Amino acid sequence: MGRRILSSKMFGIATAAFAAVSVFATGEAKAEQFVDLSAQGHVELSDGTKVELPVSQDLHGRAIKVIKVVGTKSPVQFKAGHVSNKAEVPALFINETALNLPPHVFRFSLEHELAHHKLGHITNIINAFFARKSLEERAEMAKAYEKEADCYAVGEMKRSGVLKSDGVGALFQGTLKNGSAVHPSRDERIEHALSCFKKAKGPALVRK
Ligand SMILES: [Zn+2]
Repeated sequence: MGRRILSSKMFGIATAAFAAVSVFATGEAKAEQFVDLSAQGHVELSDGTKVELPVSQDLHGRAIKVIKVVGTKSPVQFKAGHVSNKAEVPALFINETALNLPPHVFRFSLEHELAHHKLGHITNIINAFFARKSLEERAEMAKAYEKEADCYAVGEMKRSGVLKSDGVGALFQGTLKNGSAVHPSRDERIEHALSCFKKAKGPALVRK
């Protein structure tokens, strides 16, 4: 998703300890900071655009925390997972570098990651791991979930009136062209997202 960096986004469990310290190769230690954005209700992108955070719950009705990660060297820009060791607190981690993305790509990535929680993907993947499903089975699940999350995200954006069909392809510019073990190819994702866009309801019409 998103740019080159985004495309290496891992789908899976994030474990993040608050105020963890990363020791870099130089020996210099830099504290990673985790800022809970849920309370402030929006994210400000580097171009000044304010993106309102949807108030979201996962499939089990638990509020999803949106957490900005500052000071990490991780190339992952968006990740769905859980807060620290508390598996009961679903979270979406946003690397501070993601704030440089164009607003529509940022919004799409946000909705995509939230979808992994709302549709129960994270729980299912964890359960599949503990049920000792094979790597291949879990990779197939993950690929299907990527497309489901894309579908959900373009639907949400169409409903809120911020996406037209000719804008769908651009959302995938930074994704892996040939996909990965857990990601469908870019063309497959775009084709699927376009079919989802067509089926999704448009924004509510305002009565005159
Ligand atoms: Zn995903």
